[in-house]
Order: sequence, then C-alpha cells, then structure tokens
Amino acid sequence: MKIYNTLNKRKEEFFPQSVGHVSMYVCGPTVYNLIHIGNARPMIVFDAFRRFLEYKGLEVNYVSNFTDVDDKIIKKALEEGVDPTVISERYIEECKKDMEALNVKPATVHPKATEEIPEMLALIDELVLKDHAYVAKDGTVYFRTRSFKEYGKLSHKNLDELEGGNRELLVSGEDQKEDPLDFVLWKPKKDGEPYWDSLYCQGRPGWHIECSAMSRKYLGTTIDIHAGGEDLIFPHHENEIAQSEACSGVTFARYWMHNAFLNIDNKKMSKSAGNFLVLRFFMLSAHYRSPLNFSDELMDAAKNSLDRIRTCVDKLQHAIDMSEGSMLARNEYSIIEGMTQFKMNFEEAMGDDNNTADAIAAIFDLVKYININMIEVSTKEGFKRMKEMLLMLCDILGLIVEKKPEVLDEDIEKLIEERQQARKDKNFAKADEIRNKLLEMGIILEDTREGVTWKKA
Ligand code: AMP
Ligand code: ZN
Repeated sequence: MKIYNTLNKRKEEFFPQSVGHVSMYVCGPTVYNLIHIGNARPMIVFDAFRRFLEYKGLEVNYVSNFTDVDDKIIKKALEEGVDPTVISERYIEECKKDMEALNVKPATVHPKATEEIPEMLALIDELVLKDHAYVAKDGTVYFRTRSFKEYGKLSHKNLDELEGGNRELLVSGEDQKEDPLDFVLWKPKKDGEPYWDSLYCQGRPGWHIECSAMSRKYLGTTIDIHAGGEDLIFPHHENEIAQSEACSGVTFARYWMHNAFLNIDNKKMSKSAGNFLVLRFFMLSAHYRSPLNFSDELMDAAKNSLDRIRTCVDKLQHAIDMSEGSMLARNEYSIIEGMTQFKMNFEEAMGDDNNTADAIAAIFDLVKYININMIEVSTKEGFKRMKEMLLMLCDILGLIVEKKPEVLDEDIEKLIEERQQARKDKNFAKADEIRNKLLEMGIILEDTREGVTWKKA
C-alpha cells in the first residue's frame, strides 16, 4: 500500500510501526460555527481511507480533535452573552450530526482541547526545561523555533526566508519574542476570557500545542499517519512537528497526508449542500489531493451517477426476491468469478494513495458488468453474490446505495415515545437501542429544548 507523504513529497510504501495496528490523527474543526462543506472534505476522504485500512484487517486507532478554545469562539460567546462552552458544545453537537449524516464513522476518540489542558502544560513544561521554549515577562511562553534544527522540513520552507516578514516588530520593540519565528505555546488571559492556572500565568494554550499534546496522549510519541487539509501544512503541522520532536527526540508522525481544498463560497453544511450522501459520493469521485470545485450542477451530476449504482442494487434485489436456488448454476461460476477483477482494481486504487476516484471507476465497471451479465444469471444465489460484491465495495467507501424500506411517520413517533419512556424509567440501554434502531431506519433524533425532533438522514 502506498501513501503520498507530504514530508518527502512522494508516494511511499506504507507499513505501520506495529503490525496490524495503525495510529491516525486528523486535525478537526474549530467549533465556533456550523462546519462548512470544505471542512467535510478531510472528514470524508480520511474516513474512506480508514475504512479501507480496516477492510484490509488493520485495527485503526483514529483520533480527531475538536478545537474548543479559540478567539472566534470567545468572540461569539461575548456577542451572544453566553459562556464559550455553550458555543463550543452547540457546534460540536451540530458537527457530530453532520458527520453522522455524511456516514463518517465516529473517531475512536474525539478529544476536546479544553479537557486536555494538563497534557498541554506538561508538554510546555518539558519544552521549557529543555530550552526549546522560554517565558516572556507577561507570562507568554514561546517556542524557540531556531532551536529545532529541522524546522521547515514538512512545508519545505527555509528558515531565513521565513524570518523576513516580522523583523520590524522586533526592531521597534513591539514584540517580546527573541526571534520573529518563535510562536506561542501559552498566552495570558484577557478580561472575560476562559483561562487555566499554570506556572507561567493564568491563560490558555496556543492552537498548535493542542494537537501535539492530544496526539501524544492518545496515540503515543510516534504515530503512523497525521492528516488534515493542506492549509494546515504551514504553520500548524510544521509547528506540531517542532514541538513534539523537540520534546521527544523521535519522529512525531511517519506519514503526512493532506487533502486539497474544495472551492466554495463558504457554504454551510446545512441543507443547502443538498443530500449528504450525494455530497460524500461527490467528494470521493475526485482524488483527495486534487482541488475540487463545488457547484449545484456538479452535485446533480454526482446524484445521477450515484443513482446508476442504486438502480443496479434495486434491480438485483428485485431479482433476488423473484428467484430461487441456494446454489449457483453451472454457467454462473465464471460470471461470479469474473467480478474478482473489479474488486482487485478497486483495492489497487485504494492502496495507491487512497485513490477513491479510481476506486469509484472500478465500482462503475462492476455495475456495467453486472448489467450485462445479469441476463445469464437465474439463481437467487447468483444475484445475491452480485449484490454482495457491489455493496461490499460501496461500503468500503462508506457509500450507502441500498434503499431503506419506506418508514411511516407514525411508526417513528411510536418508537420515539417508547424511547422517552425508557429514559424516564432510566433504562438508558433500551433508549440507546431504540435510537440505534431508528438510525438504521435512516432517522436521526435531535434532543432540543422543545423536546425530541427527528429528521431523515
Ligand atoms: P478549521 O476548522 O478551519 O481548522 O478546519 C478544519 C479542517 O477542514 C482542516 O483540516 C482544514 O484544512 C479543512 N478545510 C477547511 N476548509 C477547507 C476547504 N475549503 N477544503 C478542504 N478542506 C478544508
Ligand atoms: Zn491540528
């Protein structure tokens, strides 16, 4: 299996450091608003890759954070006159709902920055002790960038070129940094801001230290894959490497994967983005390292393509319902066997740096093959095998192509009532069970202040 590693700017053979296990960290959103469809791109493309690794039998420890302490969150909290946690919790919930609708698997752990402050401070303490960081008069802690000799290795930037920009600040004394390249690890609170006690001052962490600390806590000092959007390469990921490696002395992340941007007009991930499952298909039809334009026309085209797969699945289901025979007929063996080629093409594409575009092409080749060869098949078993193969490949990409049986509103309401009763009875296992049952029916519950509402995924 190959991964394009931003660190070395080439595709490299991928092997996890511990056999059978993969540790993967994907930088998550800052939760000050609803996520926009650009944010959905890394969620979807790395989720597809994770599913493929799991399909290959690897156990993936997948960590994706929520950045829940940030200037924008604080600003919004002030505007609304509420505590910042009200804002962050609201948008974490919204983000989780969006992920569910996009069929993005929940991470093994979704750490929140505000709950990991001790780990961040521990890392900062170690950096200060090792002289990789220093404390300014007002209690700000800075990373001493030049003390990390390999700074720039991910973004392929040269330290002296980088230096240029902010030199005037140092000369005019407006900046308390030793060097313009130094960046903040910990900063003092301002009035009305959330803060934590520390050796340095009452304050809060810089953004970069959050990911270094959370990654270390949940995945260890060296992880297999670190991923995110390409805008994060510099300075965020470059700074993560500097902090983590200056502290541990060993490699922080062995493979760096970055998705290209989705070009959009800040379109929010609400209904305006159309059908979530079509959006997922649309994102996966392109290579994750290619820029992608979003438009309603392209979404329509994606819907039509996805419908071609769905129609094929429907046809197979119909044939299964109408036929008999639990064994393949003699002529069917070679037809079923013939599908292996498409599975191999699919796997080859996914194993070649998460090439979901080619993987989807392999699915379409399979659809075509099934459409042509279905006439030769007569047994239930034959149709079943065809459907299973098609669904299996779609499932690796997290594409849902099977129609759910129509559910009646009154059945849903009845289940919701049962769930409410179960919660009143403190039978949370039963309540969760009902929630999951509804989810399987494609119904997403929302607990709001006004009560429980529901929507179709
Ligand atoms: P942010 O909340 O801005 O830190 O972004 C969360 C994730 O979404 C990061 O991995 C970003 O790189 C990614 N991202 C943000 N905007 C886009 C976009 N337009 N296209 C693709 N990825 C994006
Ligand atoms: Zn990060």
